[in-house]
Amino acid sequence: MNGSGPRTEWEPVPGPQDLHVHTTMSDGDLPLHRVVEIARERGVTLGIADHISTRNTARFVATEQALASYLDALEKFPVFRAGEFCWCDPLWDRLPEELRARFDYRVGSNHGFWLPDGSMASPWWKTLPAPWDERPEEFMDIMVHNLCDLVRTMSVEIVAHATLTPPALLELEPDVTAWWSGEREDRFVDAVVESGIAIEISNRYHLPHDRLLRKAKEAGARFSLGSDGHTEEQVARLDWAVDAARRAGITNADLFVPEQARI
Ligand SMILES: [Zn+2]
Ligand SMILES: [Zn+2]
Repeated sequence: MNGSGPRTEWEPVPGPQDLHVHTTMSDGDLPLHRVVEIARERGVTLGIADHISTRNTARFVATEQALASYLDALEKFPVFRAGEFCWCDPLWDRLPEELRARFDYRVGSNHGFWLPDGSMASPWWKTLPAPWDERPEEFMDIMVHNLCDLVRTMSVEIVAHATLTPPALLELEPDVTAWWSGEREDRFVDAVVESGIAIEISNRYHLPHDRLLRKAKEAGARFSLGSDGHTEEQVARLDWAVDAARRAGITNADLFVPEQARI
């Protein structure tokens, strides 16, 4: 296993791996030891991917010192050591090598994306501010461009909840494939395959949609399963993600495997 610090010796259990779980070390409800207990009961191997970002210094792992303590804590438990980094926060690019080397893998997420004027948009926006309320297609294009830049730029192994589509757009047209047109899907799948980053199948958000998953599978992309769990109900639950993978013909051979990864 990669990493500089001592760690608990353990073997992942056979079966599904939930590679995106939160704890009270960022904005999760449950302490690490409780998340580990629940995953054991549910027969799932965990990757802990708490938020590592300066966007919320009160709740997230936001300094190098806090990150060292976070990794110390993970090393005491039978879990993969990961973290969820924001596309919209520079911390992912500023980590010293000794901290970077202690991760089993890293997750990159669009929690905010850049507009041409330098301001930031959110994939959770419920309304579009002017002038984007008049230009929703252009707004969608900008988000997809950001996602392609994310997977080509960030030093991560997984892109989480990538196809999250702003509610403001789905209000205008509820069919997600109208926003994720064939051309936009192709652009994103090309970027993902070129970068070698795995696409997360998100149990929390029920993403991505089937057509994109099938297209990505055919193009030779890799995938991961993630609960993005913050609560007792959510953590180590992968039912939707496993079904979605099966519908797209994705097998274990298509999955990113942390124990084989060397960062
Ligand atoms: Zn996220
Ligand atoms: Zn998350």
